[in-house]
Amino acid sequence: MQVYRLPALSDNYIFLLHDPELNVAAAIDPAVAEPVLRHLRDLGTELVGIFNTHHHPDHVGGNRELIQQFPQLTVYGGAEDRGRIPGQKVFLKEGDRVEFAGRAGEVFFVPGHTRAHIAYYFAPAKEEDSGELFCGDTLFAGGCGRLFEGTAAQMVNSLSKLRQLPDNTRVWCAHEYTLKNLKFALSVDRQNDDLRIRYSQVQEARRQDLATVPSLMGIEKLTNPFLRWDAEALQSSVNSKDPVTVFARLRGQKDRF
Ligand code: ZN
Ligand code: FE
Repeated sequence: MQVYRLPALSDNYIFLLHDPELNVAAAIDPAVAEPVLRHLRDLGTELVGIFNTHHHPDHVGGNRELIQQFPQLTVYGGAEDRGRIPGQKVFLKEGDRVEFAGRAGEVFFVPGHTRAHIAYYFAPAKEEDSGELFCGDTLFAGGCGRLFEGTAAQMVNSLSKLRQLPDNTRVWCAHEYTLKNLKFALSVDRQNDDLRIRYSQVQEARRQDLATVPSLMGIEKLTNPFLRWDAEALQSSVNSKDPVTVFARLRGQKDRF
């Protein structure tokens, strides 16, 4: 399974999964149809599925047009998003499995950014490979989504599920927010050497206009403040040891950053 990263709108990423043997493709969160259609033409392949993580327009905006072009495709989304995702046919909940070209994807229910948000995890096909996590606007490289329809407690629970994935899991998040996220991270976690190194790497990458997605779960665990509610440095920076309180205070600070 190949994963292609297609930039869209101002800072979104659409991901295109392609299986070269069966020659089929699926899109994750097509914000718009055009880059997907163009890439399908370049590959000479057809779209059999759309995997949506949540209902926001910058994630489902391309659904309708893609369905028009490929009427047989299946649209997947969270069960709680019923009525909010154009063309949705499959309603997924925690622990459900999806399939793309013979690869099984596991569904995590990860409310917080929205009340219906889900993530898709494709475990590695061979032991030496990495797994692929498509987490929409729940976990970002160096950050996490805003709480629009959920609570801090829900988000901590959601992020805890993702944090358990193997360190070499590739984290395909839906926005290029990494540099801003890490700027905030440094402001609350100054003594973190891994974070400082990552910040300068990301700064350099962005200077060259390179994408910083995918990230790796192992790096997120070391440097993302929204996965580090049990790190002492962050606990003392917001003056609490309770995971939900630590998270909520950090999220509040980031909202005003
Ligand atoms: Zn969103
Ligand atoms: Fe988004």
